[in-house]
Amino acid sequence: MLEFEERFGTEEACLEYLFKVRWPEGFRCPQCRHKKAWSTKRSLFHCAHCSFQTSVTAGTIFQDTKKPLRLWFRAMWHVTSQKYGANALGLQRVLGLGSYRTAWTWLHKLRCAMVRPGRDHLLGTVEGDETYIGGEKPGKRGRGAAGKVLVVVMVEVTEGKIGRIRLSRVPDASAPSLEGAVKGSVEPGSTVHTDGWEGYGQLSKMGYVHKVVRKEAHVGRNLLPRVNLVVSLLKRWLLGTYQGRVEHSYLDYYLDEFTFRFNRRTSHSRGKLFYRLVQQAVAVDPVPAKHIHGGIVGS
Ligand SMILES: [Zn+2]
Repeated sequence: MLEFEERFGTEEACLEYLFKVRWPEGFRCPQCRHKKAWSTKRSLFHCAHCSFQTSVTAGTIFQDTKKPLRLWFRAMWHVTSQKYGANALGLQRVLGLGSYRTAWTWLHKLRCAMVRPGRDHLLGTVEGDETYIGGEKPGKRGRGAAGKVLVVVMVEVTEGKIGRIRLSRVPDASAPSLEGAVKGSVEPGSTVHTDGWEGYGQLSKMGYVHKVVRKEAHVGRNLLPRVNLVVSLLKRWLLGTYQGRVEHSYLDYYLDEFTFRFNRRTSHSRGKLFYRLVQQAVAVDPVPAKHIHGGIVGS
């Protein structure tokens, strides 16, 4: 933390770091891709070719922020250095933000950086299943259950091991919901392993190679071991995050944070995870507050 404060203690240091992450090979005009620019006094870059003016933060999640970048850097450091998920109250406390709502908005902006729009779909062999999150009583498949949220978990299998994952919240376990979740996260042509639930019945018509592993065929054998492992890791992580009590309006954030961390689990150092988050934060479009959905629960 001390090292972090020393490195990113000034606005200039933060700007310089963002510049290097955003333009690793030097400035590129976002309009015409020209490499030459003049910098102006207000830390703007004036393209030598088309006169377009831009800044390091323009077109990123930091655009139009009235708060210092130093605070954003601390927020990203906080989020990436937690063992479990970050929450708005903790972030508000760490940053000394006056408003809970600001902390909540920041978490959701960072969430957009964790999950890049148009990210790659899973490829090859994929295991899929659903799980209920939250609520006290066990849920019944296909019907939904009070207080519970159904999440589809798709796990890429790479050389027999767990590769990347995708999590999608769905309203129920009906065919349209499950098909939408598969389509949104798995490349057509891939082989998808599921159990015999009818909701997955049409996958082969959608361009997937569908392999059904029937639970009743091998009693006591775990036929979707990788997806089951990811589900138990997710549940354990959520337990640590909110002592198991995850408000629904936060769940989307946590699913994305878990996916971000899980898919970068080989980046063992905090610094690397932080770098990835900054990298994606400058690569996404700005998120106006009005586009952030969900209400504040329990604030
Ligand atoms: Zn230009």
